[in-house]
Amino acid sequence: MVKKIVVANWKMNPTTLREAKTIFSNLKKQLKKTKGIETIVCPPAVYISELKRISVGSKISLGSQNCFSEEKGSRTGEISPEMLKTSGAKFVILGHSENRERGDNDELVNQKVKLALKSGLSVILCVGEQERDEEGHYFRFLKKQILDDLDGISKNYLKNILIAYEPIWAIGAKATGVIDKKQLQEIAIFIKKVLVDKYNVRDFKDVKILYGGSVNHKTVEELVETDVDGFLVGRSSLNKEKFNKLLEVVSLA
Ligand code: PEP
Repeated sequence: MVKKIVVANWKMNPTTLREAKTIFSNLKKQLKKTKGIETIVCPPAVYISELKRISVGSKISLGSQNCFSEEKGSRTGEISPEMLKTSGAKFVILGHSENRERGDNDELVNQKVKLALKSGLSVILCVGEQERDEEGHYFRFLKKQILDDLDGISKNYLKNILIAYEPIWAIGAKATGVIDKKQLQEIAIFIKKVLVDKYNVRDFKDVKILYGGSVNHKTVEELVETDVDGFLVGRSSLNKEKFNKLLEVVSLA
């Protein structure tokens, strides 16, 4: 069965390890009832090793929400990809719009992607335009962003890269719009084509695209009918009832 991927981005939540363990254990229980989903939980980095310990017996993978662009040294407060891997992370989210807003430009995102892949992590690369314009300039923006972020990254690593299309206008509490099925299908095909052309791959199935931006148990019903390979879920991933329902919808698709 083709698996859909669901990534839970907990952002800077919850406030305690105890709560994190409760949310994670509930998820573990729910996933015993659902089939056909690959689940990746990205908690705050300090919770990764403990959640990894209690993930035993489940198919949940852990990911970090960011990493630093260098391996080690005098970089107070930073965490390298290798350290995340040692803590139990298999994935890292890079280029998230909340981090781009704080200074992660394409050059830096590219350095982080390179180092993360070299360190053995798989990368969830977030891309997306600030807003849409009638002339369709956002297509050009998106293509450039993807190519800049993946500059110098060879085809061997393609299997370790998930592109998360996260249009800034549709993300988080400040979202000004909601994407519909037709818009998502169009952009998913566009992004897959950019990657297929860059890497000269034969099959669209070899490139994986996620969608993120206010996905919840209701919006996912129509979005799951598109060619995206899964979803990156922020706020809704912390609400037990809503997230369980979302997983149910995705598993039945
Ligand atoms: C995100 O933070 O990546 C995200 C998609 O958030 P939300 O689902 O809350 O819009």
